[in-house]
Amino acid sequence: MAEVAKLTLSVMTADVGGFVGHVSSHPEVLDTAKERLYHAREKGAIVDYHILRCGDDLELVMAHRKGCDNIEIHELAWNVFMACREVAKELKLHEPGQCFDGQDFKGTLKNAGPGVAEIEFVERESEPVVILMANKAASGVWNMPLYRIFADPFNTPGLFTSPSMLGGFSLKVRDVDNGGELMVSLPQDIYHLLALVNSVHRFAILCEAYRNSDGEIAAVISSAMVHREGDKAGLRSEPAAIFRCHGGLPAVGEVMEPFAFPHLVQGCMMGAHMGPLMPVPFYEANPSRFDGPARVIGAGFQITNGRLVGPHDMFDDPGFDAARSKANSVTDYMRRHGPFQPGRAVQSDAALSGALEKFRERFKKSS
Ligand code: MG
Repeated sequence: MAEVAKLTLSVMTADVGGFVGHVSSHPEVLDTAKERLYHAREKGAIVDYHILRCGDDLELVMAHRKGCDNIEIHELAWNVFMACREVAKELKLHEPGQCFDGQDFKGTLKNAGPGVAEIEFVERESEPVVILMANKAASGVWNMPLYRIFADPFNTPGLFTSPSMLGGFSLKVRDVDNGGELMVSLPQDIYHLLALVNSVHRFAILCEAYRNSDGEIAAVISSAMVHREGDKAGLRSEPAAIFRCHGGLPAVGEVMEPFAFPHLVQGCMMGAHMGPLMPVPFYEANPSRFDGPARVIGAGFQITNGRLVGPHDMFDDPGFDAARSKANSVTDYMRRHGPFQPGRAVQSDAALSGALEKFRERFKKSS
């Protein structure tokens, strides 16, 4: 029997320049990306594509048959981002392409600045996919939702009603600080996993999910670039996540449900403050209040022979009105903390070097 051709979904994200400030994206930038990927599809380099954006971050969604980490696909995305950055520079948009590490493509987008989420699979009879993208949020933004989707039966009743999900899921945990990766099998490793993901100083990130009964891949989140300030590691990326749904994987509704609770994430105002993650429809992904609150959009697709049928705007649903309202009242509450924690996130000495330098001489040892 001939081997069934696998499909790869590649979601590449980058901040190529904000309009206005860090709030949104300019239509000419989005048009540039669409035009480039249209030609790539016409030439047969990719099967299909879609352009999304959340806040000032641009997201390229590409369906193709070349597998994950493919140099041609990564170079295509790099060239699209560079073309968009040129448009952003001409328009003098805000900080065009600040996330790119250098000017030259080095064979992969990973660790070059953009976020990369790729998933390869054999297309099922019905292949519903949800792609989530956040703005003004650090990469750990998906930790709690991933836990709830793949480990919490209060969120995902499929964990105890679907025969193929009864065996649980395995999650890959990335220890960003030390560069290691670890697979944990749920439910048996739940308590150890919760201990790890709470360790904010080591930035443990859940990054892939597999069904235990047959190893089928269910979700991936985008890679994060690590930058260091002194002895502290930080994350720099525009986090995205891809979920395959139904057919023995969590249903679309189970993937969406965690976002009815606008959990606190780090990211607004220079990435230095804590605030709620607000689920919004596409047209409301413009965080202008205090560079926040952080936003998440959801794009739903039915995949048909590699074609991306969609997107459906997943948070365009009054079912999320209460989460949006709560996110606004939580923002009021967190902002009242001003420069005090936890309104302001824990920052390294390097980030405070200006103030520390001025007062260094005046610090005296207490007796
Ligand atoms: Mg950005």
